[in-house]
Amino acid sequence: MKWKEQIHQLHAYQPGKSIAEVKTHHTRHSIIKLASNENPYGYSLKVDHMLKEFGGTLNIYPDGKASKLRAETASLLEVDPNQLIFTNGTDELIQIISRTLIQPGKNTVMATPTFSQYKHNAVLDGGEVREIPLIDGIHDLDRMLSAIDENTTVVWVCNPNNPTGTYITIEKLWTFLKKVPNDVFVVLDEAYFEYVEQPGSTIELLEDFPNVMITRTFSKIYGLASLRVGYGISSVDIIQKLEAARPPFNTNVLGQMAAAAAISDQEFVKECFQKNAAEREKYYAFCLENGLKFYLSEGNFVLIDFKWDGEEVTNFLLEKGIIVRSGKQLGFPTCVRITIGLTEQNERVREAIKEFIKERSMNG
Ligand SMILES: *Cc1c(COP(=O)(O)O)cnc(C)c1O
Repeated sequence: MKWKEQIHQLHAYQPGKSIAEVKTHHTRHSIIKLASNENPYGYSLKVDHMLKEFGGTLNIYPDGKASKLRAETASLLEVDPNQLIFTNGTDELIQIISRTLIQPGKNTVMATPTFSQYKHNAVLDGGEVREIPLIDGIHDLDRMLSAIDENTTVVWVCNPNNPTGTYITIEKLWTFLKKVPNDVFVVLDEAYFEYVEQPGSTIELLEDFPNVMITRTFSKIYGLASLRVGYGISSVDIIQKLEAARPPFNTNVLGQMAAAAAISDQEFVKECFQKNAAEREKYYAFCLENGLKFYLSEGNFVLIDFKWDGEEVTNFLLEKGIIVRSGKQLGFPTCVRITIGLTEQNERVREAIKEFIKERSMNG
């Protein structure tokens, strides 16, 4: 086979372990999955009703324009419907952006560690990847600026950053964007936007910076990860270009309908936001009590530094039926990333961590 050379550098994405997978190995405990930042509260009752009333017509192609979802989203965000693109999860949007803007001879700038898909797609598309280390978990925007040159096509800013959860304020973003050349495409990945406590909306930035795209998803707070719907918000011109690279029927009929129902229920979003913030505080208090370093998160997850092999902590928790994400695959080998779950689940996690700490200090 005459493969693209880059394919030899890449591996298939390794998702967190599934409940079914763990069940076959560890049967003593009920199993909780807090590894992929899914919503532990599920999804809106409006989605539930929609799914129950869905009459069929699976034999007909979905609306390629996602018109209803587009109208609902545009109205909530107060943007022109033509400022939106809908994709098979944000993952596909990242792929489309990479495919349209990244190629051999060009480069792309991002933080490290950050969400893995920016680099993965850039490598596949043959671009040079410029990775700027985080400073204490936070994007180093000054060094990112210095890394931009005339061959830079895309800059990625994950905000809040996955896996640290750290957040860049709108004021800081504005100052940064002001210095980015206006022919460089800047992606603000806001997969966790709805969990952010800091005030303000980045949508306002789009008026000053038509070279910016905000990406969001229905996979996280909206609780529809399995239906694969994400979207981008940008200037009409940019959307038009990216639309040319979008597969015609990339979002499916159930995904579109469920997402439209989900976005119409902002009450549910607010509830999840509040519960998540309260549970996140309990993790912080616990970490402080137990001398564990953690990163201040504006997402629905917290990265805890055990100063110990993160893989070992992950396996210890797995033995107790708790699936979390080892920091090893995320660029933080002594950390574990835990999705904030239901109150009882979080209590179980903290009990298990206490046991881990106790056992390790007993063993010296
Ligand atoms: C989960 C996640 C995504 C992917 O979301 P999908 O819409 O499910 O593809 C994108 N970016 C970040 C930072 C994420 O954590």
